[in-house]
Amino acid sequence: MLLPLDLAILAWKESYVSPELAIGWRIGRYAHEFFDGLEQVRIAAIGHDSTIAALQRQARYPEPGLVTKPLGSRPWDMLFYHEPTATALKVVCIRNQIFPAQALRSLEECLKSGNLDVRLHYQVGVNAMVQNIINADIMRLCSLTQIRCRRLITTEGHSMSACPWCRQAGSAIRLDLDGRICCPECAGLEPSWHSLASGEV
Ligand SMILES: [Zn+2]
Repeated sequence: MLLPLDLAILAWKESYVSPELAIGWRIGRYAHEFFDGLEQVRIAAIGHDSTIAALQRQARYPEPGLVTKPLGSRPWDMLFYHEPTATALKVVCIRNQIFPAQALRSLEECLKSGNLDVRLHYQVGVNAMVQNIINADIMRLCSLTQIRCRRLITTEGHSMSACPWCRQAGSAIRLDLDGRICCPECAGLEPSWHSLASGEV
């Protein structure tokens, strides 16, 4: 199977190429083009170890290889956050384009038997999925949402009013998302990045 050079290097380092590895590579490449480099882009991701490994290979900020792995659920599979412009890119993967179909998955059990026909059939199916991930229009693989954030500040001595969406008053940070005022949680940002969300500063 012919692979782009940087994906081939990734596959060599991870010992094999899988749809999960390929999607991490493809979305990372897309984010790289979207932000004109990942030098000042934070990355968070949930999902398969190979997907995260592919993103770790591309991560540059705040240090090479750092990808935040949230413990709880999130409204995204991957989140990229460009600090200088306070722009987030939310990625939700389309499952049936990325994960093997049940028919292919059912072959995984049979692989242990050593049957060459089964092995070949499985490999052809996986290769087709990887090629689709490499070549398909990105919009067929995931939904992408751009979030432009602007951090609101209060004058000293004044506290921030409660978030109008979740009513939480605890957080001292409010964000303006194209006119929608909310707390960082309602903005869908990674909580550990809250204190980093900025805009007018
Ligand atoms: Zn809120």
